Amino acid sequence: MSAGETVKFVLTEADLPTHWYNLAADLPSAPPPPIHPATGEPVGPADLEPLFPMELILQEVTQERWVEIPGPVLDVYRLWHPTPLFRARRLERVLGTPARIYYKYEGVSPAGSHKPNTAVAQAYYNKQAGVKRLTTETGAGQWGSSLAMACAFFDLELKVYMVRASYLQKPYRRILMETWGAQCVPSPSPDTASGRRFYEQDPNHPGSLGIAISEAVEDAASRADTKYSLGSVLNHVLLHQTVIGLEAQRQFELAGDYPDVIFGCVGGGSNFAGLTFPFVRDKLAGKNVRIVAVEPTACPSLTRGVYTYDFGDTARTTPLLKMHTLGHTFIPASIHAGGLRYHGMAPLVSHLYEQGLIEAIALPQTKVFEGAVLFARAEGIVPAPESAHAVRAAIDEARRCAETGEEKAILIGLSGHGHFDLAAYEAYLAGKLEDYEYPEEAVQAALADLPQVAR
Ligand SMILES: *Cc1c(COP(=O)(O)O)cnc(C)c1O
Repeated sequence: MSAGETVKFVLTEADLPTHWYNLAADLPSAPPPPIHPATGEPVGPADLEPLFPMELILQEVTQERWVEIPGPVLDVYRLWHPTPLFRARRLERVLGTPARIYYKYEGVSPAGSHKPNTAVAQAYYNKQAGVKRLTTETGAGQWGSSLAMACAFFDLELKVYMVRASYLQKPYRRILMETWGAQCVPSPSPDTASGRRFYEQDPNHPGSLGIAISEAVEDAASRADTKYSLGSVLNHVLLHQTVIGLEAQRQFELAGDYPDVIFGCVGGGSNFAGLTFPFVRDKLAGKNVRIVAVEPTACPSLTRGVYTYDFGDTARTTPLLKMHTLGHTFIPASIHAGGLRYHGMAPLVSHLYEQGLIEAIALPQTKVFEGAVLFARAEGIVPAPESAHAVRAAIDEARRCAETGEEKAILIGLSGHGHFDLAAYEAYLAGKLEDYEYPEEAVQAALADLPQVAR
């Protein structure tokens, strides 16, 4: 590598996107709408009003291509945006690849991930609507901490139901939430009817995202001053994340390059959507770009799940979403350390997969952490275990390029850093991580519980 080659493609605050990009405006066919579990009819704004402010409900269904980002949201975004696009020159050398590897890094946000991009917007719209208090669920704690920060900025109370297994394993995320002023309780908790069902059977119940969502939804629906906030899956969440891809497109212009293939990790689908939807727009307009979603073999909703209507939560309280799902009763294996544990996939991402506009692969966790460590030793940044799925897939692609001599441009969605996930790295470094393939019988059993209306 010669001196003076650019490593970071940085935009100024003046280049910050002023609008979010809404892919729905450009899709050749609309994804199936959410439906009411009792009637099978599409849900209307009135069904969602107990949970969300009207502005977010409207964003859920808007067909406008561009949605203006409110000034107070931009003011907060400027604390860490535009985020850098890196050229991974050191990793390229380690791999001996002719590929050009780039990563868009969202770990520079105060919470260490992409999640504040929507947390800030959601807190703002709730505040505007006169809401005093929010509830949410969190798994590993990235979402809870991001929303805690956003609620501190907009002076809202927040109660976070945190999956108990993570609450016990990851005390620092809880402390982060409390530092930003939120209340955080382990879920299942005795505080809600849906929590008590599990808590009374087993006060040490490890919990799941599905159960924690039920608790947060019940809490919000039962209080007039409170609304619910979701960190992934829904259209408005994906919309807010598109600042990532819009910035990346301009940064590729600065680099005089364009990605041949993009890898993003998928849990509920929000960072993947945020990075790739602006590129999906290019693809629909004729650009040749491969877009690959990477998930764990322990929670393979896109690659092994069924595309059908399912509940978003375990207590069957949400509308039915048409998505790739492992079933709403899914409980992730406790040996799985890599995050990305949600049973379903964002309806928009599921739709793109059905349409063949994106691809999906699943990776086992030892490979994922091996890739993460290789990346950390070459580039310095310790990836979030979630992001490491995209990193590993990109490393495999770059190695294929080394064999074939192809000079592809590869883009990684590096959705966050792993500073609060060092226990998972510790387990990997000590040789204690095992691979886990979600068993086919479990997929079949969970699908037997799908709602009637879906059949
Ligand atoms: C939460 C999280 C994810 C997974 O959620 P998506 O909605 O699929 O993006 C991925 N990476 C990081 C760093 C996260 O915090």
